[in-house]
Amino acid sequence: MVALTTFSDARKPMEIQIQKESPRCVACNKPFAHDQKHYSLLKIDGNNFLREDYCEACWGEHRGSATDHDIYSHWETKYHDPAVARATPQEQFMPLLNLCYESVTQTGFDAEAMAYVCALVLRRQKVFRFVREERDEASGRNVLIFADKHNDTQMRIVDPQLTESQLREVKQRLETHIGTLKEETDEQ
Ligand SMILES: [Zn+2]
Repeated sequence: MVALTTFSDARKPMEIQIQKESPRCVACNKPFAHDQKHYSLLKIDGNNFLREDYCEACWGEHRGSATDHDIYSHWETKYHDPAVARATPQEQFMPLLNLCYESVTQTGFDAEAMAYVCALVLRRQKVFRFVREERDEASGRNVLIFADKHNDTQMRIVDPQLTESQLREVKQRLETHIGTLKEETDEQ
């Protein structure tokens, strides 16, 4: 369920529930394959949104038969099979994630720099989501807060204020480290 908060009047937030995507077409009942392109439609029924998922073939017909006023929104999407998602190997980001956690528990510039660069890469891989930056009053340093979506927790990463050459050097160290990890995994 995706919860959207809308405001029916200025003070009273109203929770609206949207159903998760259906694993099959609402019209022909054919199951969607993982990553299959299809269409989702939202209709308003009182305070609720009704969600209907259509395969491409059925979308053409049903789109025409629905009257505009009861369609809230529609969009093209891809079916995300949770079973396939669970089976997707996590090795690609797990070494990096472990290294990041390992580095934040250590002190010193090298560890801080490594944690920081790991966090940036994990953010690019969408494992981390940037939340905010804040100033640590005790140390007077900037701290970046990331949401770790894999472990469902938050990470505080000190911004080490790397120069360009330091950043290059850390990236190189990271690549060597990840490369070593990969070789170890390959040998198993
Ligand atoms: Zn269909």
